[in-house]
Amino acid sequence: MEKVTKDELISYLVELHDDAKCALNYTNDYELLSAIILSAQTTDISVNKVTKELFSKYPTIKDMSMADINDVMNIIHSIGLYKNKATSLIESMKKLSSDGYKSIPNDYDYLISLPGVGRKTANVFLSEYYDKNTLGVDTHILRISKRLGIIKEDEDVIKAEQNLLKLIGDYPTKKFHHMMIQFGRNECTSRNPSCSNCKLKKKCIEGRSI
Ligand code: SF4
Repeated sequence: MEKVTKDELISYLVELHDDAKCALNYTNDYELLSAIILSAQTTDISVNKVTKELFSKYPTIKDMSMADINDVMNIIHSIGLYKNKATSLIESMKKLSSDGYKSIPNDYDYLISLPGVGRKTANVFLSEYYDKNTLGVDTHILRISKRLGIIKEDEDVIKAEQNLLKLIGDYPTKKFHHMMIQFGRNECTSRNPSCSNCKLKKKCIEGRSI
């Protein structure tokens, strides 16, 4: 099967989701990183419901580094894994604060040294906040990559990240990331994807079987 090209993929994503943007509410780097940490295995909508109160009570890295864990857990208890996330958030801000940071550094290696910050979180943060050429591969992007043959069925997020970055070249990763996620949420869904109308059908393993 012929592989999907950069132009085919991007022009279709632009046609569908040119206005896609970050669905997490944030006003600064500290809020963005915190919201991404809280969003693991949870919807962005449910994260937005708790961050308004959380950020008004703890508006800076320093404030969060000194937060009472029971209070943070109480504020975020409606989201999944809230106990672990409260710990990660406070411990991350403690490390940043003790290392002398008042803002989140543009430094992948440092970011992944923070509790609760892995490859995906760091990549999403760096592309969103600093416009770095990094790509966070979530469950939607992984699924679409497999369906379009960008990676093999048994390959992982790191391979998807590498192959997608190679495929899109100098196209902005931030915009690409948001459009792919919207495509995964709206059309190329996990169950019952909208293949009959999809312009990528001929290049898609899933679409061709329909
Ligand atoms: Fe997704 Fe279906 Fe399009 Fe393939 S054909 S990319 S599975 S919507």
